[in-house]
Amino acid sequence: MKLIFGGVRGTNPVAHADFLKFGGETTAALIEGRGGEKIIIDAGTGLRALSAKLGAGVPGAEVLLLMTHYHLDHLMGLPACGLLYDKAWNIEFAAPRREALKPGEVVRRILAKPFWPIQLDKLQARLRFTTLPSTPTAVRRYGGLEIRWCAVHHPEGCHAYRVDEPATGTALVFATDIEWRLSSDEEKRLFLALCHRPRPAQLLVMDGQFNRTNIATFKGWGHSAWEDDLEVAQIAGVHELLITHHAPQNTDAQLMEIEKAARRIWSGAALARSGMEIEPHG
Ligand SMILES: [Zn+2]
Ligand SMILES: [Zn+2]
Repeated sequence: MKLIFGGVRGTNPVAHADFLKFGGETTAALIEGRGGEKIIIDAGTGLRALSAKLGAGVPGAEVLLLMTHYHLDHLMGLPACGLLYDKAWNIEFAAPRREALKPGEVVRRILAKPFWPIQLDKLQARLRFTTLPSTPTAVRRYGGLEIRWCAVHHPEGCHAYRVDEPATGTALVFATDIEWRLSSDEEKRLFLALCHRPRPAQLLVMDGQFNRTNIATFKGWGHSAWEDDLEVAQIAGVHELLITHHAPQNTDAQLMEIEKAARRIWSGAALARSGMEIEPHG
C-alpha cells in the first residue's frame, strides 16, 4: 500500500515561493492498495492534485473518500474536485456521525446555493454516502484493505483512521487535527489502541501544527505540538512518523528547521510534503 500526500497545510492554503517545497495545499491524502483500491482521506485543496492523478475514470472506477471532520480546510477542495463531474467515477463518502451530521448532508450543504454553482443533484459521478458505526471495534473492509477509526480530541470532533493491508502486513494511522495535550486518558487510550491493534502500525501521520513554545497561546484550537508527536510515536511504537497540518505562516525554511530538530530527537521522524509518496514497511 502506498500513501500519497495531496496537501499537508493546516487551516488555510498558502501560495507563495517560500512555501513550495512543503506545499501550500490543505489536507488530502490518497492511499493506493496493492489490489488497485483507492482511498482518499479528506477533501482539502490538495484534493485537486490527487483527482488529477486519478484522472478520467474508466466505467466503474471507484474511490472511497473518508472524512475526518468538517472544518473547511478539510473540505474546501471538494466543490472543484474533477471526479465529481466525471460520470465514470463512483465515489463513496464515509464518516462516523459527527455533530449529528451524516456525510451526505455535509456534501449537500457545501455544494448548496449560494456557495457553489453546481448542486449535488447535478453532479455526474455516482455518489454513495455511508455512516460508519461509532463502536471502537468496528472494521470496514474495502477490497484487500481494512479500515478502523477512533474519535480524537478536536473542536466539533474529528476521527483518526487506520488502514491495514493484511496481504503485506502493513498499516498506517492518519491523525490530522488532534490536540494531544487536552485529550482525556480515555481518548489517549483509544488512540493508542488504534495504533496498536490488531498489530502495531508502522507509520503514523500526525498533526504537529504548533510547537512547545507557542502551543499555550493556541490551547483549545485543536492541534498538537510537533514535540508531542514524537512522544506519541514512541509510545505507539511506530517505525516512522510524518508530522503534518503545517501552520500556514511557516515557510519552507522554518519547516526545514523543525524537521532537523525533530530528527535530532528521533531519526524516524520527518515532515510531510505535498506530492510525497511513502510505503509503510512491514
Ligand atoms: Zn485542519
Ligand atoms: Zn479541524
